[in-house]
Amino acid sequence: MPIRVNPNTFANNPLDRASDKRLDDGWLAARMQDADSMIVPLWQLKPLVLPPEREGGLCDIGWLRSGMMAALVSPNTVIVLLGIDSKDRARFALDISHFADPANDGPLAGFGDFAEIREIAGSLHEEDAAILAQAKSMIDWHRRHTFCANCGARTELAEAGYKRQCPECGAEHFPRTDPVVISLVVKDDRCLLGRGPHFPEKMFSALAGFVEPGESIEEAVAREVKEEVGIDVGDVEYHSTQPWPYPSSLMIGCIAEAETEEITIDETEIADAQWFTRDELKAALNGNAERLWVPPPFAIAHQLVKAWAEET
Ligand SMILES: [Zn+2]
Repeated sequence: MPIRVNPNTFANNPLDRASDKRLDDGWLAARMQDADSMIVPLWQLKPLVLPPEREGGLCDIGWLRSGMMAALVSPNTVIVLLGIDSKDRARFALDISHFADPANDGPLAGFGDFAEIREIAGSLHEEDAAILAQAKSMIDWHRRHTFCANCGARTELAEAGYKRQCPECGAEHFPRTDPVVISLVVKDDRCLLGRGPHFPEKMFSALAGFVEPGESIEEAVAREVKEEVGIDVGDVEYHSTQPWPYPSSLMIGCIAEAETEEITIDETEIADAQWFTRDELKAALNGNAERLWVPPPFAIAHQLVKAWAEET
């Protein structure tokens, strides 16, 4: 059964995305100037965060008031409406990559640090992680789509950041999300995990791959598992999804029933794959397994392993 509460980091974004307001230029202009509106700046795709007040505490997003905006924008600055919070305040993301070193020089010097989201994911409030994932994926998309894929002309930001418009040929470009299936292959009391060539020693994870055009989730799972480890799968059960801002994927977590057991690995994609018992996974989740580490809790693979290992 699909779960009712999504356990994944970067999911559960608390903002109302207010998509009905994106075409309302008057509303947008007013909200950008509204003293209650808040802006998170991203530099080189790293958001401004405030360090924890005490050791081991959580970071806060370095929200700025709208009055700071004038000092931070330059021509063609990307600003994206993230949404409206529960107190009716608009929240925006702003790309300030035109600054050389904003943590130490310029109007934001001394405010906080610009941090790679993946490195601080475990130190963020759940809701903040989701907001930052949205902000990073959106700004990343703008940075990669400055020119029209149809005619090559420079495109312009539109619809509060949710479209780029080509002034030459009229083509409209929209942010994309790439679906990725990530599968925990199970058979009886064992599950199969693989390790990539660059994984830390003993680290094993669920098998993942992009969904191809014209392919269903179930077909993508079966194809990826067959390609990577030579196993045939039957039933595929959906577990949960995770927005993954590298740059903009949607990880679709599935549990797949294996119909065969013999592993034949594709050495171009993975270095090793093995069957593990439920007890081994339980020990690994507690950091007590000798031959196995599993990914940390912010990875959907961890949640898949946990859901299956703790199944009664
Ligand atoms: Zn064009």
